[in-house]
Amino acid sequence: MVERAYFDWNATAPLREEAREAVTAALALTGNASSVHAEGRAARRLVEEARERVADLVGADARNVTFTSGATEANMQALTPAIEVGGRKQTRDRLFISAIEHSSVRCGGRFAADQVEELPVTAHGLIDLDVLKRVLGHCERPLVSVMLANNETGVIQPAAEIADIVHAASGVLHVDAVQAPGRIPFDMAGLGADLLSLSSHKLGGPQGAGALIQRGDIHITDSLIKGGGQERGQRAGTENVAAIAGFGAAAAAAKRADGARMAALRAQAEAGIKAMAPQAVFFGADAPRLPNTSLFTVPGLKAETAIIAFDLNGIAVSSGSACSSGKVQTSHVLTAMGVEPELARGAVRVSLGWTTNEGDIERLLNAWNTVVSSLLNKQAA
Ligand code: PMP
Repeated sequence: MVERAYFDWNATAPLREEAREAVTAALALTGNASSVHAEGRAARRLVEEARERVADLVGADARNVTFTSGATEANMQALTPAIEVGGRKQTRDRLFISAIEHSSVRCGGRFAADQVEELPVTAHGLIDLDVLKRVLGHCERPLVSVMLANNETGVIQPAAEIADIVHAASGVLHVDAVQAPGRIPFDMAGLGADLLSLSSHKLGGPQGAGALIQRGDIHITDSLIKGGGQERGQRAGTENVAAIAGFGAAAAAAKRADGARMAALRAQAEAGIKAMAPQAVFFGADAPRLPNTSLFTVPGLKAETAIIAFDLNGIAVSSGSACSSGKVQTSHVLTAMGVEPELARGAVRVSLGWTTNEGDIERLLNAWNTVVSSLLNKQAA
């Protein structure tokens, strides 16, 4: 059997040992976290402990953390016209998003399609701040949603500068920070984020949990999921205690970021890729990038073929765009960066994490050797 190496951490990370233990311990409990008896209170304790840990990861107050089923739901909850700031009853009639957002933001949440406007990015994958300033200049109380780090390229947005522009227009800033924890240090105040989404499974917790974290004076007045009064009325439904407990344990572990180690391994991988294919292109490499992500191609490469060839050689990578339907489509991120469709269709994403080691990089490069040799042979034929 081929020894496998996992390079798809931006799609999902392996469950951390701390998270597995927390999930298992929580599954052994019986109580509903809303019940007043001892069993219910034990479940409640786990939820509140997790809330403290998730809040601590981003420097927020635990009271401002709402648990959700994941970042998709957190994004849907955040993207609503019904956001009050400081108790002022106002709605927002414009949503601005960047052209490189995750599909859960690109769908516009609960805004009508004609209320949503996409903002362009530069060839490096960075939001064009001049355009942002210009469009917000004509706008009252907009909601702006940008990701901290892109899931395909790893490019990191200048969130604090964006926040200054948004706040100068009396706007609210939502930041999808799903890909950042454990990779780069950040906190909510430093980013200037008013609302922030996280996903448990990207930081080593179980799949199916996430959180929307808000600044203390922000209030969403129409919850996405209505019903019981759980999560201070912000998200109805019995809490997924086990997943939340695992999320909390993973969040505590993710505070120990090992970005420098990952950056060194990524540099080794990119140097090896380039050594075997000097024509290789690394997307977003001239902008600040997450230390764990590399999106690359060589002219003539087909992502579908490359991914299968990598897989047969024991390596899990993905195409630029997470293909939720199982089909590889041209990445909207690379399209927004002005990359030619032919080149974009060949983009392969390698993303690594806290267990990745030099042996894995060696296996990756061996597989790349096979992939690229077969491509060059075909091109020569
Ligand atoms: N935002 C970004 C940037 C993501 O990468 C993802 C997951 N691919 C999501 C949101 C959605 O997260 P979840 O899987 O928790 O719904």
